[in-house]
Amino acid sequence: GLTGQRGWTRAWRDRAPRPAYDVVIVGGGGHGLATAYYLARNHGLRRVAVLERGLIGQGNAGRNTTIVRSNYMLPGNREFYEHTLKLWEGLSQELNYNLMFSQRGHLALSFDPGFRDAFARRYNTMRMTGADGRWLSRSEVQARAPYLDWSQSARFPIEGGFLQQRAGTARHDALVWGFARAADARGVHIVQNCEVTGFLREGGAIVGVETSRGEIRAEKVALAVAGSTGPLAAKAGLGKLPLETHKLQAFVTEPLKPIVHQVISSARQGLFYMSQSDKGGVVFGGEIDGHPSYAQRGGLETYSEVMSKAVSLAPFLARTRLLRQWAGVVDMSMDGSPFITPTPIPGLYFNAGWNYGGFKATPASGWCYAHTIAHDAPHELNAAFSLDRFARGRELDEEAAGPVPR
Ligand code: FAD
Repeated sequence: GLTGQRGWTRAWRDRAPRPAYDVVIVGGGGHGLATAYYLARNHGLRRVAVLERGLIGQGNAGRNTTIVRSNYMLPGNREFYEHTLKLWEGLSQELNYNLMFSQRGHLALSFDPGFRDAFARRYNTMRMTGADGRWLSRSEVQARAPYLDWSQSARFPIEGGFLQQRAGTARHDALVWGFARAADARGVHIVQNCEVTGFLREGGAIVGVETSRGEIRAEKVALAVAGSTGPLAAKAGLGKLPLETHKLQAFVTEPLKPIVHQVISSARQGLFYMSQSDKGGVVFGGEIDGHPSYAQRGGLETYSEVMSKAVSLAPFLARTRLLRQWAGVVDMSMDGSPFITPTPIPGLYFNAGWNYGGFKATPASGWCYAHTIAHDAPHELNAAFSLDRFARGRELDEEAAGPVPR
C-alpha cells in the first residue's frame, strides 16, 4: 500500500562512526537512546554517539509487553518510578512523536487477605508519596473485567484488586524511534551495525572502545546493553556482577474486538500480566525461564505454564488463536532493582539490572543516567541504584516488600 509514497524523509540518520566523541553509549535500545537524548537536551552535550551492534530497538525494547506503571513502594525505587511515569505523561509532546501512551489503568488482582494486606501497604504508601492507587471490591473488578473467571469453580477466586489508573501501555517501537529522532535532531550520532568488542585503556582509565568498525575514543563510555551486560562488563574489568541473564517470553493472540480494557496482573502462583494492543491482539506473559540463557527464542515449558495461567484467569483465551510467541534476554539483578551508576573504573558508567520492568523505566533511566554521566555522580533519584549496595547491605528488594513489582 505504501509503494506509491514518495519524498519521505528519514526520521533519524544512520551515521558512520567518527574517531572520537565526548560520550559513547553502548547499546541502541530504549535506555541508550534516551540517555543520548537527555545528555544533549539537559546537559548540552553534542559529541555523543550511540553504538548499536544490530539495528536500534531490536533487543528488549522491541520485544516487551509495554506495561508502564509506578506501583513501587521502597524508598529509592518509588521516587524513580514515579518520575518515569511523570515523564511518560508528557513524552509524546516533548518528543513530538505519538508514543500511543494509553493510561488505561493497571489492575493488580487480589486473591486473599494476605494479598490485600500487602497491597494495602504498598498502595497506601504510594498515595502518601505522590502516586495514585486505590482498592476495588470484587464487584468493581468484575464490572471492569467481566472476562475474568468469576464462576464458583474458578481456580483463582478473585476477591478484589488494586488499581493504578495513571498506569497503562505504550507503543514500544515508537519510544525507540521517538528518542532516536529527537536525539539525532540534537546532533547525537546513531551508529548501527557497530558491535563493541573491547575497551581502550590508558593507565587505569577507559578511554574508548574497540568495535567491529574500528576503534573509537571517548572521554566517557556508558554501557546500556541490558541482557548482554555480563560478558561486556567482564571485558571492561567490572568482574562478576550481581546479575544473571534470563529469557523472558511473551505471547499475542489473533486480533480481537476490544475486550481487555486495562492491564491485568496476577501474582497468584507466579506472575501473569495481560493487556490488549491497539491492533486487537491480547498480549500476555509470565515468569522468566528458570535457567540463565542468551537465546532470544521461546520454548514449550514456559509456553505451557503461561497458557494454563492465562486460561485459568481469562477462560475466553482458550477459544482464541495464538499469533506469535517470542523472547528477549533480560538482565536480572539479585534484588530485582536496577543499577545506574558511575563505576570504580574512571571513564566507565554502568546501567543494567532492569529485570521484568525496564520499558517503563526508559525515560527516567535515560534522564538519570545522563545526569550521572554529565556530573560523574548520581542524581538523588538514582542514588540507591549503586553497584556496591550488596556489599553495604542496602539491597532494594521490592518483591520481598509485597506482591506485584518485579
Ligand atoms: P535492549 O533493547 O535490549 O537494548 C540493549 C541493546 O544493546 C540491544 O539493542 C543490543 O543489540 C545492544 N548491544 C548488546 N551488546 C552490544 C555490544 N557489544 N555492542 C553494541 N550494542 C550492543 N518492561 C516493562 O517496563 N514493561 C513490560 O511490560 C515489559 N515486558 C517485557 C516483556 C518481555 C518479553 C521482555 C523480554 C522484556 C520486558 N520488559 C518490560 C523489560 C524491558 O523490555 C527491558 O528492561 C528494557 O527494554 C531494557 O532496556 P533497553 O531497551 O535499553 O534494552
